[in-house]
Amino acid sequence: MSAANQSGVAIVTGASRGIGANIARRLVRDGFAVAVNYASSSAEADKLVAELAQAGGKAVAVQGDVSKVDDVRRLFETVEQQLGKVDVVVNNAGILKTVPLAQTSDELFAQTFAINVGGVFNMLREAATRLNDGGRIINLSSTTLALNLPGYSIYNGTKAAVEAFSRVFAKELRGRRITVNCVAPGPVATDLFLNGKTEEQIAQFSKMPPLERLGQPEDIANAVAFLAGPDGAWVNGQVLRANGGIA
Ligand code: NAP
Repeated sequence: MSAANQSGVAIVTGASRGIGANIARRLVRDGFAVAVNYASSSAEADKLVAELAQAGGKAVAVQGDVSKVDDVRRLFETVEQQLGKVDVVVNNAGILKTVPLAQTSDELFAQTFAINVGGVFNMLREAATRLNDGGRIINLSSTTLALNLPGYSIYNGTKAAVEAFSRVFAKELRGRRITVNCVAPGPVATDLFLNGKTEEQIAQFSKMPPLERLGQPEDIANAVAFLAGPDGAWVNGQVLRANGGIA
């Protein structure tokens, strides 16, 4: 067994950039062989995999839209063929478009639920039969669920579903020694948060947590790594808010 394989095999969805890319970096550093999933950013995913290989880690880029059942099945099959059976699933892929509920189009509603909820559902259902006993599942929720800011109703609806799935799924996996938890970040400096916001809005969000800064992707990767690693073994069915104390 190579050094890079000692901790097992992990899939990180939506790992081409943002929080997911940093989770992939951290899990490789912790000794996992990591599948860097992405939907369309193949250049970014390939670049990350090259960077991880350069640092002596083991990683592969695997395209797949998590909202599509067939893509998710293919994702697991490809990872099993290239890296081996999966130990850790991080359901990180997600989208956010802030629009008041009354102005939300049918298309935006459907797309947000298809990716943020359907994507997690597809991954969890597949993981139920494919994950190694003793595995870990970490789903990305959001602290926006506790803030109730205008414009976030649809997005918060999707993350509420993710938290509900996680709590019940943790119990349904009884006997398999698999934990299921959520990490709920506050505002983190990524495209998802920054796009469409003015400098002033960004400064306002930065001041909200008592620690008075935006989260960085590494802050969230650290929380995910805790739940994926030996120190997080007894935490199950929980939501860990990593947000600098904003809520
Ligand atoms: P981001 O910078 O926009 O990155 C999103 C990632 O998800 C990209 O790699 C993207 O890949 C991938 N993705 C999008 N749709 C996908 C699909 N259908 N199938 C597979 N991959 C897909 O977002 P982020 O800020 O890192 O957010 C990551 C997670 O954290 C999300 O679940 C988000 O809701 C949550 N979160 C973020 C914040 C924040 O402030 N940033 C706060 C709370 C929670 P492509 O480019 O290839 O599409």
